[in-house]
Amino acid sequence: MKQCKTCGKMRAKSAKSCPHCGAVVNHNLEFVLKIVVAIVAFNIFMAGYMRYM
Ligand SMILES: [Zn+2]
Repeated sequence: MKQCKTCGKMRAKSAKSCPHCGAVVNHNLEFVLKIVVAIVAFNIFMAGYMRYM
């Protein structure tokens, strides 16, 4: 279960839209954010790793 950002009620994690307010859940934005965070974390890791080469 996940909290709806629009109405604050609980909805199914797999639901594409909120059953309470009908707000469409933007899965793509969450996915892109996770990729960006992963790339930034990888770059920080590599920068730290290169110092010991
Ligand atoms: Zn909602």
